Amino acid sequence: MADYNPQEIEAKWQKRWAEARVFETEADSTKPKYYVLEMLPYPSGTMHMGHMRNYAIGDVVARVKRMRGFNVLHPMGWDAFGLPAENAAIKNNTHPRVWTNNNIAEFQKTLRRFGFSYDWRREISTCEPEYYRWNQWFFLRMLEKGLAYRKKSRVNWCPKCCTVLANEQVINGGYCWRHEDTLVESRELEQWFLKTTAYADQLVDELKELEGSWPERVITMQRNWIGRSQGARVKFEIADLASVKPIEIFTTRIDTIYGATAIILAPTHPLVTRLLQGSPVREQAEPQLTQMRQSSVKTADLATAEKVGFFTGRHAINPFSGEKIPIWVGNFVLMEYGTGAIMAVPAHDERDFEFCKKYSLPIRSVVVPSSTEGAPPSFSEGGSSNARTSITNTVETPFTEYGMSTNSGEFSGLPSATAIEKMTAFAEKKRFGKGEIVFRLRDWGISRQRYWGTPIPVVYCPEHGLQAVPDKDLPVLLPPNPKLTGEGESPLAATPEFVNTICPKCGGPARRETDTMDTFVDSSWYFYRYCDPHNDKAPFDSVKVGYWFPIDQYIGGITHAILHLLYSRFWCKVMRDLGLVSHNEPISRLFTQGMVLKGGVAMSKNRGNVVGAIDMAEKYGADTGRLYTLFAAPPEKDLEWNEEGIEGSWRFLNRVFRLVDKHAGAIREAKNWNFDSKGMTDKERDLIRVTYQTMQRVTQDFETRWHFNSAIAQIMELTNEIYLAEPLENGVRPEIQKEVLEILTLLLAPMTPHIAEEMWEMLGNKDGLWNAPWPDLAGAQLDLAKDNEVEIPVQVNGRVRATLRVPADISEAHIVPKALAIAAVARHVDGKRIVKVIFVPNRLLNLVVQ
Ligand SMILES: [Zn+2]
Ligand SMILES: [Zn+2]
Repeated sequence: MADYNPQEIEAKWQKRWAEARVFETEADSTKPKYYVLEMLPYPSGTMHMGHMRNYAIGDVVARVKRMRGFNVLHPMGWDAFGLPAENAAIKNNTHPRVWTNNNIAEFQKTLRRFGFSYDWRREISTCEPEYYRWNQWFFLRMLEKGLAYRKKSRVNWCPKCCTVLANEQVINGGYCWRHEDTLVESRELEQWFLKTTAYADQLVDELKELEGSWPERVITMQRNWIGRSQGARVKFEIADLASVKPIEIFTTRIDTIYGATAIILAPTHPLVTRLLQGSPVREQAEPQLTQMRQSSVKTADLATAEKVGFFTGRHAINPFSGEKIPIWVGNFVLMEYGTGAIMAVPAHDERDFEFCKKYSLPIRSVVVPSSTEGAPPSFSEGGSSNARTSITNTVETPFTEYGMSTNSGEFSGLPSATAIEKMTAFAEKKRFGKGEIVFRLRDWGISRQRYWGTPIPVVYCPEHGLQAVPDKDLPVLLPPNPKLTGEGESPLAATPEFVNTICPKCGGPARRETDTMDTFVDSSWYFYRYCDPHNDKAPFDSVKVGYWFPIDQYIGGITHAILHLLYSRFWCKVMRDLGLVSHNEPISRLFTQGMVLKGGVAMSKNRGNVVGAIDMAEKYGADTGRLYTLFAAPPEKDLEWNEEGIEGSWRFLNRVFRLVDKHAGAIREAKNWNFDSKGMTDKERDLIRVTYQTMQRVTQDFETRWHFNSAIAQIMELTNEIYLAEPLENGVRPEIQKEVLEILTLLLAPMTPHIAEEMWEMLGNKDGLWNAPWPDLAGAQLDLAKDNEVEIPVQVNGRVRATLRVPADISEAHIVPKALAIAAVARHVDGKRIVKVIFVPNRLLNLVVQ
């Protein structure tokens, strides 16, 4: 009798796998391929069990696919550039490379300890020049195509990070994504941008290819982020001032135009002065205007600044309703945004609501939720409405969603999207408006004023201006010894040996660009590099990528639903247009796993609630850790860490191990069973049936639903059944014992691969389990998997009323309710009393009634 010793077993099999190069793969067009990938980790701190769940899920998929005959690519690498490394380096007075590589070593050790089936030859680290030179190469291609450009722009600046943030990195209405307590400031800087908007239409349209294989939630988030909508420019004539040009507004909600109760101009709008000429309110208005122009509101403060405004004394005419509405000036309308004028629709816009409420302008509902179709609006109409329009000031909160038009003349009763379409067409026909497609998506600002990133490969010559670094001079290397302070301008700008260079055109002195690239650049295309990680002539070989792509299964957190996935999709389309790849979308299927919680919150070092992965492996072994993270919850759901659950997984593996160990000696020399059912004992039949049925259900869970937790529960159940059949040697032939225990072992293999290999060897197999195919049932096995059922005639007072198909050996207690559920039986029993039940097992049921 041997004890289950995971430390020994796990080391033994990891060594064997490495020696046999089991997980090393090459493109091979004779085999179907499967590319499964977990999002590449940012190596920081130590890995905990919250991390491991993601990798355990990926590894199950990789191993099942390998067993099913696929050529599986399952690589791993490091998202190694980034701010935390730079900040840690400053804090610990070390180099970001040292800090990063230490973490990588730690992460790698942990992943290896868990026995994940990676092809480690393909490992990449994005901070290495052999990787980031290709970021630079792509940047130059985009520069040539006009997809990379420089412009002065207002940027989001985090005073704690001391760097620019992408819009996507500004969260919760104005805070830094890393410093959730720090308000992002607005600054004006020369910045590099990638023109994601050039692909805005495709980024929306090609989401269609992903429907059904990406989580719907992610698709919706992407669609909303890109925010394609039908906008319209609409002209409002000015009443009584025929000589003055109409005011043009821009709106994405033309369907709310009947609810416009004012026009609001930016203080700097060129018409304001003209409108005030001869206006009855001119004297009060002008000082207010002067003050407003002096204290202009910054974009960043728009949401929070107090809204102020004044009436110009003039009116505009709503081109749809002909209604005269007042023209105001408001501090929250910006000249550099849109047309510098808006129509205020307080019932359907937060900002307008706040403003109109403050100045007692009418609030009129013209869209109601679709669900209340035909019903009155859910808010009170109030008592002040006049007869012509239903004007009210009692709307509690604006309804900003799409719904159904109401109080909108001939457009009433239309769903918002249709109303927008029809009203835009109407405006165009009447020549007072024009449709315009607009996007919420902005170009991707990639400039970062930090050291630990990819240098942007351009130089500035006093003579020739901006010059691209020629391909042959790539990579532009980071200087090895920067001065890192974490403050002020880019560390590269403070490194003269980096800055001072020569112009590629004239050879004269020139300055290098000192911004580095956003690290989302690194992760936008890294999964292509895995296909050809050591190529020094190109980012990758297109033929190799053509074999492996698109990614069959990508696994990662929902937190990446927008940024990383959107940039990756953009990058793919750019590469396609460069002729490097031939697909539109890089990722066929996406799976977003749930988080691992402890004490109700996500495991994180900051919260101090982590369970270290290495600690786990040392205490229980990697297989127990893997099994637990897969068993404790369905993979898409959050998992609450539970120490007793770990103990349970540990006990289960011990129990399986003991079972195999006990019988291995007697059955290891047994020949393979030929599935011949002749002469099988009942005990053999039952055991084989439950084994095969478990196999079928587990296969189903792996193939279709990814219910790994339910698969494991079935395997536990099977183990119980085998224990119940003990002693096996009484009535079960060795070859059937072997069949049962081998299938049990194979089913466990994707989740707990080390113990499975060990048991496989104990059962007498000379070849490693890694070469064994998934145990699909065929031929005679399918019959043996069928439930043993019998047909039983059901009599009432001795007359057959029905027949019933039931599992063999069903008990009287179970069959009677089934019989009574049959209408033909119930009819003869209803209203009478069952005085006697005659049940002959597997033969007959007779209900005697009076
Ligand atoms: Zn910050
Ligand atoms: Zn020059």
